[in-house]
Amino acid sequence: MRRRRCSIHSTPSSDTRRVPQPSELSDDEKALIAAARAAADNAYAPYSNFHVGAAVRAEDGRIFTAANVENASYGLSLCAEANAIAAAAVAGVRTLTHVAVVGYPAAAPDGPTLATPCGRCRQMIAEFAGGDAIVLVQSRDGTQTLRAPFREILPHAFGPDRLAGG
Ligand SMILES: [Zn+2]
Repeated sequence: MRRRRCSIHSTPSSDTRRVPQPSELSDDEKALIAAARAAADNAYAPYSNFHVGAAVRAEDGRIFTAANVENASYGLSLCAEANAIAAAAVAGVRTLTHVAVVGYPAAAPDGPTLATPCGRCRQMIAEFAGGDAIVLVQSRDGTQTLRAPFREILPHAFGPDRLAGG
């Protein structure tokens, strides 16, 4: 049976070739990815065995990290991105500038997996990140990196501006 997991396991595709390589990321971006990688190590993922860590940067520079937390009732499992966004929101954050994600199958942690955010998480990101916010996804081994404005990750997103008539 294919079990649910936090993020989509995707293999590198052509859309990753036009983005900066890890060496081209800013120091802040590298630090955010490192925070996401560290968080993934604390994932509670006994069912999917797919570890995901997320780190989000608030407009004021604060960083919030989280991992996926699964449940024996699979549908209740929580994604790393959602947990990090919730932590930020509870701390008063309303605007995110960056979202970093690192995910990997526990059985092969150092492969090239890019754990791009699932659809639900993209919508959660849309609540707090404008189109210019940067999404960073890197494989745990650092060989694959996706760096893109959020508007490319979720085009035509439904966000708070829509409710306001935007
Ligand atoms: Zn998700």
